[in-house]
Amino acid sequence: MKRIALFPGSFDPFTVGHVDIVKRASNLFDKIVIGVGNNANKQTMFTLEQRMQWIKNSFTQNEIIEVQSYDGLTVEFAKKINAQYILRGLRTSTDFQFEKAIAQMNTLMDAKIETVFILSSPEFSPVSSTIVRDIIRNGGDVTRFVASGVKFY
Ligand code: ADP
Repeated sequence: MKRIALFPGSFDPFTVGHVDIVKRASNLFDKIVIGVGNNANKQTMFTLEQRMQWIKNSFTQNEIIEVQSYDGLTVEFAKKINAQYILRGLRTSTDFQFEKAIAQMNTLMDAKIETVFILSSPEFSPVSSTIVRDIIRNGGDVTRFVASGVKFY
């Protein structure tokens, strides 16, 4: 059976930290679906279409990576695409506390789906979409913190 992982997130925008997690996970899985959340209650800086296009542009050479949008429960979307794994990245103990609760709730909802965590590489652990958005709002250059496909024109 093919090992399919869902990497869910808002990716507002996709950073070098996200790229690192996907690249390292691509040695573990046959297919990785990057699931871009379309959450009506969550205000994003960039539109769903923009966020998805930037991710697609960042992985043009890698045929095991797919980009899809979803709304609703992550476990439901994982089931829909036949993913047995949910992939998440961990930077800090704060991430861990938050991710632990979500992963355990997901297990209670569907015990067949396993959450797999990959620790951030040390050089990427301070990078977050939140800080990138703050830098953008204040007119700074974020080129080295975002994925290669992210272009602001
Ligand atoms: P969400 O809105 O679901 O938190 P994000 O787009 O912020 O989505 O992050 C998606 C996933 O990527 C999360 O598991 C987050 O912890 C992880 N992540 C974000 N930045 C990094 C980074 N620099 N290194 C490793 N993992 C990261």
